[in-house]
Amino acid sequence: MTKTHEYEVVIVGAGGAGLMAGLYASRGAKTAVLSKLYPTRSHTGAAQGGIGAALGNHEEDHPEWHAFDTVKGSDYLGDQDAIEFMCQEAIDVVYELEHMGLPFSRTQEGRIAQRRFGGHTNNITKKPVQRACYAADRTGHMILQTLYQQCIKNNVTFFDEFHVLDVLIENRAAAGVVALELATGELHVFRAKAVIFATGGHGRVWSVTSNAYAYTGDGVAITLRRGIPAEDMEFFQFHPTGIFKLGILITEGVRGEGGVLLNSEGERFMDRYAPTVKDLASRDVVSRAMYLEIKEGRGINGKSYLHLDVRPETVNKYAELDGRVRPDGSPYRVTAEEILSKLPDIIDFCRTYLGVDPVKQPMPVQPTAHYAMGGIPTNMYGEVVIDTNNTVLPGLYAAGECACVSVHGANRLGTNSLLDITVFGKHAGMRAAEYARGADFQPLPADPTAFTRQQLDKLLNGKGTERATDIANEMKAVMMEHVSVFRVEEGMSQALEKIRELKARFQNVGVSDKGKVFNTDLLNTWELGNLLDLAEVTTVAALARKESRGAHARDDYPKRDDANWMKHSLAWLEDGQVRLDYKPVVITKYQPKERVY
Ligand SMILES: Cc1cc2nc3c(=O)[nH]c(=O)nc-3n(C[C@H](O)[C@H](O)[C@H](O)COP(=O)(O)OP(=O)(O)OC[C@H]3O[C@@H](n4cnc5c(N)ncnc54)[C@H](O)[C@@H]3O)c2cc1C
Repeated sequence: MTKTHEYEVVIVGAGGAGLMAGLYASRGAKTAVLSKLYPTRSHTGAAQGGIGAALGNHEEDHPEWHAFDTVKGSDYLGDQDAIEFMCQEAIDVVYELEHMGLPFSRTQEGRIAQRRFGGHTNNITKKPVQRACYAADRTGHMILQTLYQQCIKNNVTFFDEFHVLDVLIENRAAAGVVALELATGELHVFRAKAVIFATGGHGRVWSVTSNAYAYTGDGVAITLRRGIPAEDMEFFQFHPTGIFKLGILITEGVRGEGGVLLNSEGERFMDRYAPTVKDLASRDVVSRAMYLEIKEGRGINGKSYLHLDVRPETVNKYAELDGRVRPDGSPYRVTAEEILSKLPDIIDFCRTYLGVDPVKQPMPVQPTAHYAMGGIPTNMYGEVVIDTNNTVLPGLYAAGECACVSVHGANRLGTNSLLDITVFGKHAGMRAAEYARGADFQPLPADPTAFTRQQLDKLLNGKGTERATDIANEMKAVMMEHVSVFRVEEGMSQALEKIRELKARFQNVGVSDKGKVFNTDLLNTWELGNLLDLAEVTTVAALARKESRGAHARDDYPKRDDANWMKHSLAWLEDGQVRLDYKPVVITKYQPKERVY
């Protein structure tokens, strides 16, 4: 029996973006938050390094500098009105989190402590600036816990372990969502005036990734199936420092605290690629440098990894060579105890999973699939926009990693995602509640769960001649090989052919668990269908973009081409085919320049 619920605002996702949206929407509208995971298990909880805001607690800093760094980091593909808005709002949002009780690390004077991060600079000296506000290396965990407690205190209604499978759109406006309750296998219809997607990223498309198992791009796939485009999907960030083979993230905060990358010759190679900011260049630049070092035979022991070294003697040696000083002018020197107190979880991971003690030995690292710059297109109020004219689809919102505002353009700076989820989660929540006050419920379709049942029945009654795990492994391998840090026409064409073959084979997949209770076999297989769709859209958009920009680096088109390609891509999935179109980038005051770090 399908149960129908009615809420003015329904939020899909309980990570940082969903909880912030829930908190704000619930102040003005009857709100429910649905999440396939228990809220505090959301990936936001894995974020380590920090949240960016130009508080200037250690040294001079300004929101305008933060905005310029973000525009430059985006390789001039970010929309500058939205970037300026986010960097201004950053200061209020961080103090708001502090007042909610978030236990930030502190300066000696008791202010919020800030550390260096890639691409964040003093715009005058061009040197790294301390802009990342942090709570040791558990910043995301603290944001998630703080926001969840606030939501509970404010009586936000949660539906935990409800897996959303479809969005209902009637009269060209949002009408609700369909969800499966994990515990019972029953379908529920949530009728709503406004729906906010906050479902996170899709790094599980690749084999080496920092992303959680749940990062299967559900929100983007669901909306694509309902005729809504996905924006800038060719841009997916590879973070330089994943643990070799495992992909588990080692925060950029390690380099912020003075750690350096070394090749097999013990050389700090970033000196050659980014002479001014070195190891703290933007992530696309560092990941490419690492690939080149490995390709030229300077991987450690001839293997495809390099060393990340944060031993105090190494940090102190390079701090001295760089002439790094503390704000009071004294030389920057660290002890093992200081490293331990600033990066406790990282050190713990390495000791546990690698048997490597980072204060005594260097860590083996390789680039790891990390962050989706692309996603559901929105404006800076979180409203979903569905065409090249930015036409708003009434009642539909998206925020966080599943959305593309776009503030990250072709490459996101570290610390700007925790910022994005809180700023745009907040504004999407406020806007949705305001919209709900003035709008009516749309009528529900005659059979609201029909499309969902059709998708699930197909999997439950599938021939079963194909195994989902085989298809998943083949997809991840081919995407890792051909659609990752460096790309060329031939490799991407091969990948596309493979993905299409896998999509055809997916039609014959079957799930062995036919039961109702906690049928994760069924849901994981449904999620694989999402990943296949997103892999295809990513590859088609990447093949079409004949230039190199940010995270999209093509060996066959090595230059950025502003004359032809300074535009956002929009991809639609129509009758199983990907259709592309483009819309302009918003420029306010930062004219495109060549990027030098
Ligand atoms: C290891 C790691 C470290 C990071 N460190 C940093 C950092 O230091 N600084 C920084 O700025 N960024 C960092 N990032 C990026 C940042 O953490 C994420 O981009 C951000 O937290 C995403 O937040 P979100 O709210 O969009 O999604 P999430 O926190 O992932 O939440 C997604 C939610 O959607 C729900 N959901 C998904 N699909 C469905 C569905 N079909 N039905 C119902 N619910 C669904 C999930 O249950 C979950 O609650 C890091 C990322 C990783 C992976």
